Amino acid sequence: MKQKFLKKQDLKIFVEALAATYSVYYPKKNRQGNFHLVPFSEGVDGAALGGVRPFEPLKNFFFRCREKVVDGYEKSEKAPANSKRPYCVMGVKNCDLHGMRIQDFVFTEGDFKDPFYIKNREENLIIASDCTTAIPTCFCHALEVPHYPEKGYDILMSELSSGYLVEEGTDRGAKFLKRNDGIFNEAAEMHIEERDHIRRHAGEKVEANIAEHGIPRRTEFGDIIKVNLDSPIWETEVKACVECGSCNAVCPTCHCFYLSDSEENGNKEVRYKMWDACMYKRFAHVAGGANARPHLWMRLRNRFEKKFDFFPQVAGIYACTGCGRCYSGCPGKIDIRRVLKNLVAEKNGKKHE
Ligand code: SF4
Ligand code: SF4
Repeated sequence: MKQKFLKKQDLKIFVEALAATYSVYYPKKNRQGNFHLVPFSEGVDGAALGGVRPFEPLKNFFFRCREKVVDGYEKSEKAPANSKRPYCVMGVKNCDLHGMRIQDFVFTEGDFKDPFYIKNREENLIIASDCTTAIPTCFCHALEVPHYPEKGYDILMSELSSGYLVEEGTDRGAKFLKRNDGIFNEAAEMHIEERDHIRRHAGEKVEANIAEHGIPRRTEFGDIIKVNLDSPIWETEVKACVECGSCNAVCPTCHCFYLSDSEENGNKEVRYKMWDACMYKRFAHVAGGANARPHLWMRLRNRFEKKFDFFPQVAGIYACTGCGRCYSGCPGKIDIRRVLKNLVAEKNGKKHE
């Protein structure tokens, strides 16, 4: 496939073409220097496809925080029709694409498939982008997640100084690019060289983070959870936790939900599927009042056990992509990088923080 080049001044035309079919979101940097996803209705001024992952994980679009799954208890085998326009999410980073592998595993594979999630995943367009830098909380390389996308996208747009290097990833992406071929120029060798240079630079920044914080790599993990089940690390680390659930909400791989019944429009019974958080005390509460994880430190341990022991066993992948959101969003500043470092040190019989 030939790579294409889109000039920066033509981004608006490109996004307008997308908006004819999709509800388009793209990343924008706010005054504090953080990236957030905003809708195209706000225009494309300040669109930043490069940079780093936005605050909001990609899962928000497909595993929605609140979704009606039963409306009036009418018997139906089908998921309700999705009345919304399909999404096009731009500037998606590789840590979020990897996060979707866990979401897809949970909701689309195995005996129980979620028709709502499957419906939400259909017809959308994922436009991925390379990270052009790294922030201090990025440690994706430690989990063997590259800082640029390799698969899982429909179109890849790597941001350069004067435009974007554009590549197709799926038939859907290729069709869209073909339909709008007039917007693009052919990519030149210098565009590919610039993309490679930016990749090298951003990769060095991630490596510098890993070196500076002494973050262990997944090859060093081994059985860090199994050998540390009774470690004092959990109680020490959880002291600053206020049980807000933010670490679960912002994580691109966390996927737990609960079902809640209520009445709407008179007496019509409805059921909502809503995000849950394993850090909440009531998460493991069952009928009769028993709770498998009554103490907060047990819930922190469970969170790490799922990410670094359970999912590698059942899905062959870690349920952590090194995006650093859980640390950024934690009011108690519980640092996943420090917890991993301490767990590895304890496993190896070494002193830790
Ligand atoms: S974000 Fe921090 S304070 Fe909130 S539940 Fe998670 S670990 Fe606890
Ligand atoms: S556990 Fe933290 S660093 Fe890992 S994917 Fe989730 S939010 Fe990102």
